[in-house]
Amino acid sequence: MNTDLVDLPLSCSSCGADPLQVAVSDPVSDDSDATCADCGAQLGRFGDLKAQGMDALKAAVEKAGIEAFKGIKF
Ligand SMILES: [Zn+2]
Repeated sequence: MNTDLVDLPLSCSSCGADPLQVAVSDPVSDDSDATCADCGAQLGRFGDLKAQGMDALKAAVEKAGIEAFKGIKF
């Protein structure tokens, strides 16, 4: 299973990583489970995190050109 890494302007509630880098299994959807790339903590639904860091995520996606995100509406 592939995993995409996405930086969000949030901090990890477990290890305090800031900015938070989340690991999301590919294909990415709002219902994908997101985990902290640093400590592996379960962070909940990717859709919820995305809502929190939407603006920065958009920039990160455009910068990274992640194919998996292209079908997702922001
Ligand atoms: Zn963490």
